[in-house]
Amino acid sequence: MTKTKINWLIKKKGGLYCMPGDFFIDPIFPVKRALITHAHTDHARPNNKVILSSKETIELMKLRYGQNYCSQSQIIKCNEVVKINNVKIRIYPAGHILGSVQFLIEYKGYRLLISGDYKRSIDLTCSQYEPVKCDTFITEATFGLPIFNHPNDKDEVKKLIDSLNTNNHSTHLVGVYALGKCQRLISLLRNLGYEKTIYLHGALMKISEYYSKIGINLGKIEKVSEKSPSQLINSLVLCPPSSLNDKWSQKFLNKIKGYVSGWMKIKQRIKQKNIELPLVISDHSDWKDILKTVEDVSPSEVLVTHGREEALVHYLNSKNYHSSALNLIGFEDENE
Ligand SMILES: [Zn+2]
Repeated sequence: MTKTKINWLIKKKGGLYCMPGDFFIDPIFPVKRALITHAHTDHARPNNKVILSSKETIELMKLRYGQNYCSQSQIIKCNEVVKINNVKIRIYPAGHILGSVQFLIEYKGYRLLISGDYKRSIDLTCSQYEPVKCDTFITEATFGLPIFNHPNDKDEVKKLIDSLNTNNHSTHLVGVYALGKCQRLISLLRNLGYEKTIYLHGALMKISEYYSKIGINLGKIEKVSEKSPSQLINSLVLCPPSSLNDKWSQKFLNKIKGYVSGWMKIKQRIKQKNIELPLVISDHSDWKDILKTVEDVSPSEVLVTHGREEALVHYLNSKNYHSSALNLIGFEDENE
């Protein structure tokens, strides 16, 4: 098994644990103290005792989990240093969704940068990714294969606008993730001049209203349940991907089904989900942007997690980075 250069970070059952700071990063089980990179449910779980994150992430967790979001929260701002024991913590924007951050964790002069999920392309609904020099970089690899080369998001959204203009006897029903993708799609549509009311499935309302409240322009959005199917002809309806093929979706007339996801690059997924209008828009970095980021943060070691680890690890080692997959590392895996 590989050994990492950091001997003060271990993998416990709950997730990555910083020993001198006595905290976890994005733990999957409730813990005493957690650093949270962003509010997606695979990174931010309820019921931790103390959480440290950006203001928006904490507020989004509160919206999603109610009073279980944690017992105590602490906001950390960009340019601020929070010291826990002898560990210095700073945050930098990750460009993934609203409130998403990377953590720079410094102990005895050694700099560990944990990216969380991140992307490099511009997204008007969140702050842009900021590269930071570090010694060890932990990167995600959701789209860490050379075949993933995300197209320009505006070109993808133009396909939707063209379809809306051409097929005006239809209802466009488009699947989007509730946090991040939904609001990014709306923002892109508004910036390309689409001004009509956009109708949302109830599960997308609360978070979208939060975005509007803090000043992100989503234009006119309305809950779809307030309209009859015939009133929704020549309209755009957004819903969670899981609703595209369920009973709820059956009531819409002449529907054209779309799905916005980085996975829409894969033909098999398009077919599986019965999608007529696939839009390849991702909130993760593609292969070239992961490599660009590694170059920008110039670490001596890269640990890879979340996704296609092997190809990226192999490639980085061939470029003389000390690289391994996080789940293959001989961390003292604690069987607690
Ligand atoms: Zn995420």
